[in-house]
Amino acid sequence: MYKTHSCNELRSSHSGQTVTLAGWVHRRRDHGGVTFFDLRDRDGLVQVVVNPDSTEEGYELAEAARPEWVLQIKGVVQSRPEGMENPQLDTGDIEVSAVRVRVLNKAKTPPFPINEETEVDEQVRLKYRYMDLRRSRMRKNLENRYHIIRYIRNFLDQRGFWEIETPILFKTTPEGARDYLVPSRVYPGEFYALPQSPQQLKQMLMVAGVERYFQIARCFRDEDQRGDRQPEFTQLDMEMSFVERDDVMGLIEEMFTSLVDELFPEKTILSRPWPRLTYQEAMERFGKDNPDLRFGMELQNINDLAEGCRFKVFEQTVANGGDVRGFNAKGCGGYSRKQVDELIEFVARYGARGLATLGLTENGEVKSTFTKFLDNETVQAVIARFEAQPGDLLVFVADKPAVVYESLGRLRVFLGERLGLRDPDTLAFCWVVDFPFVNWNEDEARWDPSHHLFTAPMPEDAHFLDTDPGKARGQQYDLVLNDYEIAGGSIRIHERAMQEKVFELIGLDIDVARERFGHMLEAFEYGTPPHGGIAPGIDRICMLLSGEPNIREVIPFPKNQVARDVMAGAPSEVEEKQLTDLHLSSTRTPGQV
Ligand code: ASP
Repeated sequence: MYKTHSCNELRSSHSGQTVTLAGWVHRRRDHGGVTFFDLRDRDGLVQVVVNPDSTEEGYELAEAARPEWVLQIKGVVQSRPEGMENPQLDTGDIEVSAVRVRVLNKAKTPPFPINEETEVDEQVRLKYRYMDLRRSRMRKNLENRYHIIRYIRNFLDQRGFWEIETPILFKTTPEGARDYLVPSRVYPGEFYALPQSPQQLKQMLMVAGVERYFQIARCFRDEDQRGDRQPEFTQLDMEMSFVERDDVMGLIEEMFTSLVDELFPEKTILSRPWPRLTYQEAMERFGKDNPDLRFGMELQNINDLAEGCRFKVFEQTVANGGDVRGFNAKGCGGYSRKQVDELIEFVARYGARGLATLGLTENGEVKSTFTKFLDNETVQAVIARFEAQPGDLLVFVADKPAVVYESLGRLRVFLGERLGLRDPDTLAFCWVVDFPFVNWNEDEARWDPSHHLFTAPMPEDAHFLDTDPGKARGQQYDLVLNDYEIAGGSIRIHERAMQEKVFELIGLDIDVARERFGHMLEAFEYGTPPHGGIAPGIDRICMLLSGEPNIREVIPFPKNQVARDVMAGAPSEVEEKQLTDLHLSSTRTPGQV
């Protein structure tokens, strides 16, 4: 064994013991003929002191050692001299006095400091990810991720779930993204698809009588890379038989509540039980179906006041079937023209043609872009609706409902952030339910499933599928945490006739549907139990619980923002021979990227 103890393990109670440690030189300093350094291993740091009187050779090696060299130290644990204790370190009461030093490996100067949490360009961090992961923040994130997954595994094991693997080489699995395809060498011109999720497979497991399944499943979606997406990501994929919506939601609520209480006791869950909002309510109050409930500033409709108010933009919007909504940006009444312009630019990015404002100065005076058109009574009614106080700023968008929701919903979060209302240690979980079953896709002139093809409609709404599909609600539930959708799931269709009806409704040719999903349709004729499930996104959950700004920080080896692995260099070109074997040739023209 290279070591008898881990660096972080040693305490005063070990004083006098001879120990052997192995790890990396974290930080080194020389002091009047004696060398001190912190030795680091995965678990933490311990101070090592190398005195030439104890080991002449060891002293020379220690003096030559540089950060990130790998050393083995044999030494005696001793209390630090009085006043030299370091309360910042778990091992801060002791040090190890070396009697032998062995260099296990040398290291080049690291591309960035490992012993400080300095800002480092992300591309450099990703290129040297193995060094980046040595830093304490990333090490902590890795550990959190492991603990979260372990907690989930134990929790589900205790409730009778089986962890079952499903294939990675499979057939197209529609979750609304493009598939990654894998060409078959054996069958020229044929392809496997990497699963966008194990959705069909977990349903097949329910047909198979498994009843309770989960998997820490990798999912692959070939989407345009923007923001915080990864081509592959991890879900806790789950499915249960003989359940209704409340059963699945209740189990997930219990699991995450107890996980947070146990692993992250410093965090506060804002409400227990978690609030449930209908989709409609989430949109009307927060402008999004993934609301941040940590703060107020809720949206309100003023169509009734806008109608005939003599401010043209408002009047006409309402007359044309649009909406006028606003919210009270608490305490922003003193915003300068420039600051207000910034908000206008912000909403413009989401399609809003303008932002009407009404500020109340500290002495209650109205400063507004539109109240000059309104009579005083209407102005007072607007102020009253938002309970505006001196120092507040009311902001309004008048447009098609979709634009109003999106622009104001995002502005609310933007201002919430700026006003410091989004405390990362507060966890505002909530459920969003009663989603529309299908959404009208203007571009393609067809209905799209609002969740996925296999979600069941609410039984009492099923008749709308024949008459007015837009009115039907689906048995879908989304779990939202602090402005992120962290899970989506549903009760599924388990009857062939209903599944075929849905294929037809979304415009899937029945022959195509049978070719792609014939196995499911057939399976549904062999005694499929009622079932449902959900798939929490592990990366997002780890990100939020670790207080990180994006999921790359909690994925050991992520792709960068343009879907490249910059450490190994992937994707990369392959040998012509490999393509030939796969019956492929490239259509790329020289110079094309
Ligand atoms: N397969 C779904 C998804 O990836 C989740 C589910 O319905 O269980 O979003």
